[in-house]
Amino acid sequence: MHFTGRTWRPPYEANTPIIQATSGCTYKNCTFCSLFKDEPFRMSPIKEFEADLAEIKSYQPYARRIFWTGASPFAMSYDHLKLRALTVRDYLIKCQSIAMFASIRDIKNKEVWQLRKLRAMGINGLSIGTESGDDSTLLLANKGYTAADIVEQCKKLDEAGIEYYFVYMTGLAGKDGGYRNAVQSAEVFSQVNPWFISVDSLTLFPDTELYAMAQRGEFVPAGERERIQELQTFISNLKIRTHLLANSVSNYHPMMAYLPYEREKAIGELQYVLDTKDESEMEAYRAS
Ligand code: SF4
Repeated sequence: MHFTGRTWRPPYEANTPIIQATSGCTYKNCTFCSLFKDEPFRMSPIKEFEADLAEIKSYQPYARRIFWTGASPFAMSYDHLKLRALTVRDYLIKCQSIAMFASIRDIKNKEVWQLRKLRAMGINGLSIGTESGDDSTLLLANKGYTAADIVEQCKKLDEAGIEYYFVYMTGLAGKDGGYRNAVQSAEVFSQVNPWFISVDSLTLFPDTELYAMAQRGEFVPAGERERIQELQTFISNLKIRTHLLANSVSNYHPMMAYLPYEREKAIGELQYVLDTKDESEMEAYRAS
């Protein structure tokens, strides 16, 4: 397999065969992220991609799903996506879905008819690192899109029948910003249809712009208790039926909930954490 760069896939794709379609990130400007900082963006040449498909076929000829790695495979043009999606079909006859990371920015340059065709070719299951639906938080994180863009672009995915998953990041709005971020994001996310929302919590890494801003006093990180309260507010304000997966290692208290049915249970669970843990205990967890 030709894995040349940093290989990254979401935890919920752990059982999906992965293949490198691109490496690096086309954007690299998010202030909290240094994941692909020193790695140029590269599209895997089709010959390399085919060789990897042949290798996957030799182990899992009946794979029903495949995950394309790289921060931005969906940034590829319609024609490049089409060629690769059809090539997957040449090798993996039973493959029903081709999943990958995508950005709101990557959807902008695609028409609904193109999205529909890509869906018909198997592209389905886009993990979108939205992080927030609050304009001032999106600006602080320099995500390169607005809340209105999230709604506009995801409505195109809804129209094309492509399923997608969101990420929400607690703590990203900084100290005293969690409530606003949670209310605004829940309002925006509720206008579209993410199959589930994965929740992470900001950890400041020294090689990021946000860390440098914190050093200069331009960004004050939110405390751990504020983040738990932020998640409670987010859960309270979401108006759609969706799964919430707040179980990655960046969450002090890992939890999952099926909303709206488990809303009260989830809020109560987080309240128990607030009632029984103090800030220093939670800070020690993050520092570790
Ligand atoms: S968060 Fe995603 S889009 Fe932003 S710089 Fe990191 S890898 Fe690229």
